[in-house]
Amino acid sequence: MDHSPSIADVTTALDAWAPPGSAQDYDNVGLQVGDADRPVTSAVLALDATPEVLAEAEASDAELVVTHHPLLFQPLEGITADGYVSNLALQFAEAGIGLYSIHTNLDAAPDGVSFALAERLGLTDIGFLDGFEDTLYKLAVFVPEDAFDSVRQALADAGAGRIGDYEACAFATEGTGFFKPGSHTDPHIGTAGGEVESAAERKVEVEVARWNRGTVMAALQDAHPYEEVAYDLYPVKQTNSRAGLGALGHLEEPMPLQAFLDRVGARLDAGSLRYAGAPDATVERVAVCGGAGSDFIGTARGAGVDAYVTADVTYHEFFEVLDADGTPQMALIDPGHYETEALTEQLLRDWLADRFPNVAWHRTDTTTSPMRTFVPSGDEGRANS
Ligand SMILES: [Zn+2]
Repeated sequence: MDHSPSIADVTTALDAWAPPGSAQDYDNVGLQVGDADRPVTSAVLALDATPEVLAEAEASDAELVVTHHPLLFQPLEGITADGYVSNLALQFAEAGIGLYSIHTNLDAAPDGVSFALAERLGLTDIGFLDGFEDTLYKLAVFVPEDAFDSVRQALADAGAGRIGDYEACAFATEGTGFFKPGSHTDPHIGTAGGEVESAAERKVEVEVARWNRGTVMAALQDAHPYEEVAYDLYPVKQTNSRAGLGALGHLEEPMPLQAFLDRVGARLDAGSLRYAGAPDATVERVAVCGGAGSDFIGTARGAGVDAYVTADVTYHEFFEVLDADGTPQMALIDPGHYETEALTEQLLRDWLADRFPNVAWHRTDTTTSPMRTFVPSGDEGRANS
């Protein structure tokens, strides 16, 4: 587009990639501060909203900050200068800078955070570690011949029938529909209060994601010529091909765990790594999950991977990799929460710069994590033993 996009233009595009409805229930994603109608000429991308990020946005005349982690997670009682979150929200509002968060919906998106982490570590043939269950419906709708093309197109435009990288997937069969218009109807075919009519119809079947159901059903009602649209909408049990968590892939060449740890540390710019595993193990199949992914330790083990890279792993969770004899069944590697997700800034920058080339997209120059690693020198003396 020639003119500057609005914040809404940008967030609508992001929502199509990472639908807010695919976020986890506890999450709070979307526009957190600001006016969606404001134009965007410049924006800052950061893992977290911090005072330093806001200062960068002000210095570069940015109208928008996009973060992975939401600033507003718990309800606030007021937007005041008291407390870190409330005060920062107030400062964003006073500066007239929008704040948008794309969190677990970006984790769940194809080519989202975990896919980017997998690529960074050199994995290929990347897929979801844990595809979402129970998030799909099948819509079967009965359409008269003369409206078949327009209804099928409207469903596709509304996002129905997306399977993997394919769009507009649908299946149609021909048949005959029967109906008897009531005396108060306004039928497309036949007359009110008339006899049983029949019409050549097609049954169109499409897959619909749970978070897209409202949009698809509204588009169907709009496009379908019948006063009463006949359709079936039912849940289906297969795994969603376009939403899940974590990523799974393999290295081009197997390598010793020691070398893989070195690669993880170097490519994620991690000063130290915590891990469990046999140092002489060979790593080829690898699972990853950006951020706190210890919920999937069992899934990764079940998938038979040699190593699982995630963050926020607790002491006791490291025991989950051991078999009955205490032998590690896979390596579990924790480079740190920030370290596994900082690449989200570049991921968003590349994606947005591609689609909105007129906007200046800045990746933050700051490290937004408040955590630091301290390596003791030993000068202060050791405890008596
Ligand atoms: Zn995170």
